[in-house]
Amino acid sequence: MRIDLHAHSNVSDGTQAPADVIESAAGAGLDVIALTDHDSTAGWDEAAAAARKTGVALVPGMEISCRTAEGISVHLLSYLHDPAHPGLLEEITKSKDARHARAQRMVTLLAEDYPLTWDDVIHHVAPGATLGRPHIADALVAAGVVEDRAEAFGSILTSRSRYWVQHYAPEPALAVELVRAAGGVPVFAHPVASARGRIVGEETYREMVDAGLAGLEIYHRDNPEEGRRFLRRIAKQYGLLVTGSSDYHGAGKPNLLGENLTTPEVLARIEEMGTGSSVVR
Ligand code: AMP
Ligand code: FE
Ligand code: FE
Ligand code: ZN
Repeated sequence: MRIDLHAHSNVSDGTQAPADVIESAAGAGLDVIALTDHDSTAGWDEAAAAARKTGVALVPGMEISCRTAEGISVHLLSYLHDPAHPGLLEEITKSKDARHARAQRMVTLLAEDYPLTWDDVIHHVAPGATLGRPHIADALVAAGVVEDRAEAFGSILTSRSRYWVQHYAPEPALAVELVRAAGGVPVFAHPVASARGRIVGEETYREMVDAGLAGLEIYHRDNPEEGRRFLRRIAKQYGLLVTGSSDYHGAGKPNLLGENLTTPEVLARIEEMGTGSSVVR
């Protein structure tokens, strides 16, 4: 069984429609794929229809952007939650709205130095999609400012850049609590991805575990080996599940479907725990 529990569509910052992500998963020889768009479940229905057609099983999911009180970015994967749960829905709606204003501010700042307009950015965003820096990167690529998204993130779009603006995001423990309240299974995404920015210390793991954290995404290309050793210790200490996934973004990232996998035993545990929605087979 080939199981990949982290992929994005153009409902957030992936480049393929949800149905195309499922088709690509089938093409990559996967048996199970999770659709985990940033702060949105808008792709679930289309992905479910494609899953029934292709025979790839779909785990409905989402990736929630969070920020600690110290200002460190944390991504939380949620599997099998109820997409209509009011508390969770309210938080992600707040984030999505804040992302819009934040992108506008970033574009205003960038426009002082680069040939970029708001319309250029919107051109790269599917209707209703969760707006992110990758869409601004796409507009900068189209304007010839950078070669690709990676170059944009390595220069003018990093969180250390003078054009970077933050947006509202819930604290990790609150997001974990809400995912649990919505019947979902919360898994800390790429926890030690130090190239993206600062990473959290042990205290944050403890808070997330106390709030109901279920697992750690250890096998992800952005987690360096040293960090993985630390994560294996944390997983053991708190009895957490361990997952592996690609974080596929279509043409938006080099990550390939199935480049990391999750075991059938872990998927079975996730399926037992998740009560807000069901795996589509
Ligand atoms: P934002 O949430 O708007 O701050 O943007 C962060 C998103 O950009 C993450 O979800 C990543 O998927 C994406 N991202 C981060 N680094 C890169 C990179 N080097 N190349 C392409 N996408 C990236
Ligand atoms: Fe992303
Ligand atoms: Fe992420
Ligand atoms: Zn992701």
